[in-house]
Amino acid sequence: MTDIKKEDLLDALRKVKGPSLEGDIVSLGMVSEIVIQGDSVVFSLSVDPEKAQELEPMRQAAERVVKAVPGVNNAMVALTADRAPGSAPPKTNGGGPPRHQPPAGEMAPPPPMAGQAPPERQIAGVPGVKAIVAVASGKGGVGKSTTAVNLALAFSANGQSVGILDADIYGPSMPRLMGLTGRPEPVDDKILKPMEGFGVKVMSMGFMVDEDTPMIWRGPMVMSALTQMLREVAWGELDILVVDMPPGTGDAQLTMAQQVPLAGAIIVSTPQDLALIDARKGLNMFRKVDVPVLGIIENMSYFSCPKCGERSEIFGHGGARFEAEKLGIPFLGEIPLEMEVRRRSDAGQPIVVSDPESPLAEIYREIAEAAWAQIDGEGGAVSKPAPRIVIE
Ligand code: ADP
Repeated sequence: MTDIKKEDLLDALRKVKGPSLEGDIVSLGMVSEIVIQGDSVVFSLSVDPEKAQELEPMRQAAERVVKAVPGVNNAMVALTADRAPGSAPPKTNGGGPPRHQPPAGEMAPPPPMAGQAPPERQIAGVPGVKAIVAVASGKGGVGKSTTAVNLALAFSANGQSVGILDADIYGPSMPRLMGLTGRPEPVDDKILKPMEGFGVKVMSMGFMVDEDTPMIWRGPMVMSALTQMLREVAWGELDILVVDMPPGTGDAQLTMAQQVPLAGAIIVSTPQDLALIDARKGLNMFRKVDVPVLGIIENMSYFSCPKCGERSEIFGHGGARFEAEKLGIPFLGEIPLEMEVRRRSDAGQPIVVSDPESPLAEIYREIAEAAWAQIDGEGGAVSKPAPRIVIE
C-alpha cells in the first residue's frame, strides 16, 4: 500500500478554487487538519454557512482530487462553519467575528450547518427506504448498540430487508459487532456501496477510520458525515434502516434527530432508576422534534443463571415497563443480562444469527415483531406519513 503524504494531498487540493474562484482552497486557509488513516483521508473545509449549499460542488471537487492521489481509496470531506485550528480565517465569512472553537473532544452545539435545510424546508426521505428508525438511549453503556444490532438482525430474520446506519460517529461499534472489516467500495464518483453482513447492509464511520482513532468532530462535520452516510450510500430497497444513535440527549443528538427523516425512535434503557430518568430525557428529545417514540426496550432486565436457568432480578426489573405504561408508550420487551450476549458481540457474532435457536434470539425476534407492528401496523409510523419536521 502506498503511504499517503499530506503534502501530496495539499498539492492536489491546491487545484481546487475557492468560493469566489479566486485563489485555491489551501491558500485561502479553508482546509482543516487532514486525518490520514490507512487508505482513507478525512478533513473539512471551512465555509460561510450561508453559502454551504452552493459550495457543495467545491466539496465534491476536493473529494475528487484527493481520491485521485495514489494510495487514497476513501475520502470524506465535510463542509464546516468552524475555523480549523491554526489556519487563516476563512475569507468567506465576510470578516465576521471568529466562531467559538470547542476544545478537542468536546461536542459543539449545533451551529448553522453545512447542508442545513433553509428554514421551514422539510427533510426528504431516502428513496427506496420505507422506514428509518433510531435506536437511542439517554446515556452510554446501557447496551444500545448491542440491542440495535440484534434487533436489526431480528427484523431481518422476521423477513424484513434491513440496513444499519451507525450514527455513533464518536464511538462507531458496528464493524466490531457485525464482525466486518474492509472499506465500502465506491459505486460511482459519489455513492458508496454499503458493507454487508448476515444479509444486512451496514454503513459506519468505523469503516473509514479505525475504531480506536479518536476523531474530533465539530457540530457541522457530524451532520455532514451523517448526511453522506444516509444519502450517498446505495442502500437499495429497504423495509427498515436502523440508526444506532450516539448515546445521550445533547445538542448533537437533537440535531441528528432533526436532520434524519425518522419514522420513529426506540429507546433502550436499563431498569435502574437513574437510567430511566435518562430514558425520559430521550423521550422528551424525540418529542421535541416530533418523532414518535415506538417503544421502550428494557435491556439487562434480569439475570438468568447460566447453570440453573433461574431468573434473578438484581436490578429492580420492570422499571422500564412501569415507566412506559405511565408515559403511554408501548413497552416492546425485556432482554436479560446474559454473558453469551456480550461474548458473542465481542466476537462479531451477534446472538440472533450465531445461536438463532436460543431463547435470547427468540426474545429479540419477538421485540422486533412488536416494534414492526408499531412501524408497519395499522396507524403505524409507515402507514401514516411521518410528521414533517420543521427546522427553526
Ligand atoms: P451502549 O451502546 O449503550 O454504549 P453497548 O451496546 O456497547 O452499550 O453495551 C455495553 C456493554 O454491555 C457491552 O460490553 C455489551 O456486550 C454488554 N451488553 C449489552 N447488552 C447486554 C446483555 N443483554 N447481556 C449482557 N451484556 C450486555
